[in-house]
Order: sequence, then structure tokens, then C-alpha cells
Amino acid sequence: MSATSLQEFQRQVSELLLRHRSLLDVVTKFAQSNASVNRSVAKAITECGCIELNARHQGFTADMELDQAKRQSKSHMAGELCEHCREAVQAELGKNLFYMSALCNLLDVNLDEVVAKEADKCSTLGLFNLT
Ligand SMILES: [Zn+2]
Repeated sequence: MSATSLQEFQRQVSELLLRHRSLLDVVTKFAQSNASVNRSVAKAITECGCIELNARHQGFTADMELDQAKRQSKSHMAGELCEHCREAVQAELGKNLFYMSALCNLLDVNLDEVVAKEADKCSTLGLFNLT
């Protein structure tokens, strides 16, 4: 497998995209592929069982030190994806990325730029980025 830049991938997608040229087709396919990613993760839990989910309150409080909050922050997940589920999740993520690229193409947005801006934001905002 060779590494492909996002820009190359975007170009590839634009060449392949004949059926879904409409913006409406692309945004709805993008949403659908996102649901399929989540579905593949859910199947790993409920059908395969290679990962387990046991979610509960994170237990954060307003006066908690950042260090302690970091230490007790939990993924609520046990186990790891088996080969089959990993492949399934990867395939769905790939389709999701395909439609994200198609959307970017239609709107003339450069994915490399999107990643670069978000990476900048991550380094500025650090820990608080995901809130
Ligand atoms: Zn599995």
C-alpha cells in the first residue's frame, strides 16, 4: 500500500465521481457513510464482541485539577478490534473519506488545507479542543 496525499486522493475521487455529481447526492451519501462507520463499530461490540463498551459518567467536577481529570478520563472501551472488524471499520471510514473528498471537490475546498488548519487549532487549543 503506497501513501497517498489527501490532494492526490481528492483528485482521484473527482475522476471517479460520475454518478454522484449532485451536491444533494453527495451530502446525503456522506451522512449515510458516517452512519455506516458507527454501525461497523456497533457490530464489533454486539455481533463480534472483540470490543466491549461499558459507559458511565466521567466523574469530572468543576474544581478538579487538569492532571486528575486526565488520569480518570476513560474510553469506556475494553478489548481491541479483531482483524475482521478492523477491516470493516477501515472500509467504512474509507467510504466516508471518499464522500468527504467528493463534498470538498464540489465546494472547492482543499482537504490538505482543512487538515492543516485543524492541526493548527489542535496545537493552540490543546486539551480543550474536543469539548
Ligand atoms: Zn471483531
